[in-house]
Formats: sequence, structure tokens, C-alpha cells
Amino acid sequence: MTYRTAATGQYSCPRCLRPLNTYQAGAFEVDACLSCGGLFIDNAASRELVRAFDRDLIRVATTIGIGKGETVGPGVYQKDLACPRCGSPLSPVNLPSASAEVDICAEHGTWFDANELPKVARAYRRNREGAPADMAAEEIAKLLEHRWG
Ligand SMILES: [Zn+2]
Ligand SMILES: [Zn+2]
Repeated sequence: MTYRTAATGQYSCPRCLRPLNTYQAGAFEVDACLSCGGLFIDNAASRELVRAFDRDLIRVATTIGIGKGETVGPGVYQKDLACPRCGSPLSPVNLPSASAEVDICAEHGTWFDANELPKVARAYRRNREGAPADMAAEEIAKLLEHRWG
């Protein structure tokens, strides 16, 4: 992968507690776990998912998720996730329009399990192009509360 940057091991994966690697994805940084395929992005990058289909971000997220399931195999699998930046509990936020549940720290950003980010990005592209009503008002309100707006 050509996106690798120098910073490694600064943060730990909320799921499997292994060090996260930092990748540059266009304008954004992605802290990714190469073990479980999950990744963490900041609030600015999270907002971009709702606004636009950011090809760099989605390409990196897709690459990281190749061969990874949405659930992790044997080994450590945390159910109560902590923010990799501050250690506060992440709030699970259900996104019915994307059939996904992401985990958000309002201060720092959002955790996506393997392959969830491309799924959310595609769902929001559909929402923008066709039927904005698909994205339920309740879902939008929750995302705004978590600074995706
Ligand atoms: Zn992991
Ligand atoms: Zn945090």
C-alpha cells in the first residue's frame, strides 16, 4: 500500500488492542488495524462521508478491509469499545440507512469495523442521489449530535 506514513503504534485498536497504523487518504488520516480491518477517522472525515463520496478515503478503507470479516476471528475481541485517542467509551450509533452500527467519540471521531466505512459511504451516496428521505430524521439527528454535521 502506498499510503503508509511514518506514524505507527501511537494508538491501539479498540477491538483487538493491537497497534493501529496511520495512513494518509487524500486530505484525511486513517488509523487502521491491519489485524481486524477496522479503522478510525476523525470528525472532519466522518462528515465528509455524509457530504461527498471521497474516493481516496474509500479506496484506503476498502484496501484495509480486503479479506477481513465484519466480525473478528479468535483472539481478543472487545465488546465495549474505547476511543483510541482518549480512552473514553465509544457510543454505538445505529445507521439504519447503511445497515451498520458505528462507534463514535464526539470529541475525536468514529470507529468502523472492517468494511463498514465503504458500506456507509455507498449508502449515503444513494441517499444523496436518490431518496434523501431514506436517511431517517432520527439517524441524521444522532449523527449531528456526534458532530458529523
Ligand atoms: Zn483490530
Ligand atoms: Zn476520544
